[in-house]
Amino acid sequence: MPICALCHKNDADKKGSHLIPHFLMKKIDNVDGRPGRELELGFELSGGYVTGYFGSSVLPERLAPVFGELTEEELEKSRSKLIVDDLLCTACEMRLGNLESAYAQTLKKTSTGNYTSTEDSYLAFLFWCSIFWRMSVTDTKAYKLDETDEYHLRIILDGGLDATDIPAYTEKLGKEITGISYELIRCLNYTNKNTAKVLMKNENTVPYAMLIGEFAVFLTVDPNKKSEEVQTFLGLEKLRKEAKTNTCQQGESVLSAGNDVFDEAYREGAEFWVEDFTKTVSEICDALHKKFVGAGAMGGEIKKKIMVAIADNEGPMGRRYTPEAMHDAIMKTIVNYEPYKSMHD
Ligand SMILES: [Zn+2]
Ligand SMILES: [Zn+2]
Repeated sequence: MPICALCHKNDADKKGSHLIPHFLMKKIDNVDGRPGRELELGFELSGGYVTGYFGSSVLPERLAPVFGELTEEELEKSRSKLIVDDLLCTACEMRLGNLESAYAQTLKKTSTGNYTSTEDSYLAFLFWCSIFWRMSVTDTKAYKLDETDEYHLRIILDGGLDATDIPAYTEKLGKEITGISYELIRCLNYTNKNTAKVLMKNENTVPYAMLIGEFAVFLTVDPNKKSEEVQTFLGLEKLRKEAKTNTCQQGESVLSAGNDVFDEAYREGAEFWVEDFTKTVSEICDALHKKFVGAGAMGGEIKKKIMVAIADNEGPMGRRYTPEAMHDAIMKTIVNYEPYKSMHD
């Protein structure tokens, strides 16, 4: 059994750990906003594929329009990519669970402009650190923090979650912990009406950035890391300048954003995903070309035809952009063109 990713001591015996805590997940993708732990239905955007995922108790009739007919086996096999096994030990899952329950309380507080969500800066700080750390530490998402930063966050979480004398703990760590900062933007109730997703780009390193349901979070782990230009993140980087910076000692301040800003961010997010997907298709086409011909790359025109075939697929959304659908479109298209045509015959 693998060892717990957080404490590095116990066996990672916990099944069904939520990478995104349940109270955020629920808002993100529960079917029809119904409460319940296994009602997740959404799409994961990463690595060039969109993969439908769903919790085990989602009613099949609700899934049919999204995924087409599902077999029993598919229903059982498919789980949210944001729920993982063998990552944490039971004790660490509980430690993170307590952190989440405490932070969930702060969501009730809302206001306009910059507002204080909680006086407990340390709690809020650990919470957002834990979100980035978890997304990075598992290999089910195509997202990775810098190795040093990931290590740094782990140390802070592992020690920080149990710290009873917080001022003493932060003083002991010094800049290691006080140097970490984040900005938080919230579009209240955005996910009540809109389909929300979790979106991160590996290009965003200074700071790290995450769009998660009705929140956008910017995290700086190493304050010495600089970027020559401002790294863009779905247009939200502009709003970040208006948000107050939070640390473990100062916060938590949240900047409220309007629906239009999040609409635009999600629209840009979808564009980013199409680009990512197109790149993946192109790479697979070139690999296929090499296999057929031995060298070179597939022509741009044929690739375009393949993209059209994928877009023309009238299957349900959840299956349109899967690896299987992609391979079908590629094979169906290339048999009409040389040199693949004669090789196929
Ligand atoms: Zn552990
Ligand atoms: Zn859940």
